[in-house]
Amino acid sequence: MHGVVCSCTMEVFSMSELKKSYEMVFKKMIMETEEIYSFVFEKPEGLNWLPGQHGIFRNLECKVEGDKNYRIFSFASIAEEDFVMFSTRITDESTDCKRKLLELKPGDKMTAEDPQGRFRIEDFDKPTCLLAGGIGITPVRSLLQNMDFNCINPINLRVLYSDDRGAFAYEDTLKWLNKKYDGLELKLISDRNEFMEEIEAFANDMGNNADYLISGTPGMNKAITAKLLSLGVEKENIKTDNFIGYQ
Ligand SMILES: Cc1cc2nc3c(=O)[nH]c(=O)nc-3n(C[C@H](O)[C@H](O)[C@H](O)COP(=O)(O)OP(=O)(O)OC[C@H]3O[C@@H](n4cnc5c(N)ncnc54)[C@H](O)[C@@H]3O)c2cc1C
Repeated sequence: MHGVVCSCTMEVFSMSELKKSYEMVFKKMIMETEEIYSFVFEKPEGLNWLPGQHGIFRNLECKVEGDKNYRIFSFASIAEEDFVMFSTRITDESTDCKRKLLELKPGDKMTAEDPQGRFRIEDFDKPTCLLAGGIGITPVRSLLQNMDFNCINPINLRVLYSDDRGAFAYEDTLKWLNKKYDGLELKLISDRNEFMEEIEAFANDMGNNADYLISGTPGMNKAITAKLLSLGVEKENIKTDNFIGYQ
């Protein structure tokens, strides 16, 4: 570990009430890449979530005719950062509901509700491979921030983050964490074949002595799960976070 400095107070908090919607004040937007934007809000009192969880977000500043007017996003920040952040890919082809997020101004309001999900690192003393495709990196940021908040140097945590466009969200944060913890190995990959080769190398090395966490589109998650199974990895060692809504 390279001179880790952090605040190790483990905060104990109660979970948010289910079905309750928490109003949050918009602070700023961060352009992570040409297509990925992060939206940052003040953390409302009472809203809590666990790293790796997702929630339901509604934009109170606009209603789009004929749309369900909410989206599920992963929490990219941890509660201890004291802000709520989600990130999403927005292009010309995106729905109006998502494009309207680009019009948010400081002071505008959104709501968050129902944090849930069990996409988490079970044991930092067990080798783990975190596989993120494109926007699937969002829950991974919170998992790594949580590791850092608790000063945990993992035994062997491999993060394989692949994006065909070669543009990576949270790049500075991820690289900083990678430098700080020698048990963490981050690879930013822009070639799908290389991604598959890296997965294969880790699985051949660690097999069923490791956990595999996959985050991305349902199609990608299915393909990687099939690959891992073909390499002899047992289903119980594979966990997926399916970003339903992306092809
Ligand atoms: C657990 C989870 C975590 C997610 N985290 C993120 C995140 O951090 N960042 C991010 O950008 N996106 C995330 N998503 C995806 C997000 O909810 C949007 O679907 C996505 O951003 C595309 O938005 P859209 O407005 O372009 O299309 P959408 O209007 O959301 O959907 C496109 C297509 O998918 C279908 N669809 C959408 N939701 C569902 C559903 N629940 N069940 C079945 N079909 C559905 C729609 O009918 C439509 O055909 C997550 C989804 C899930 C389920």
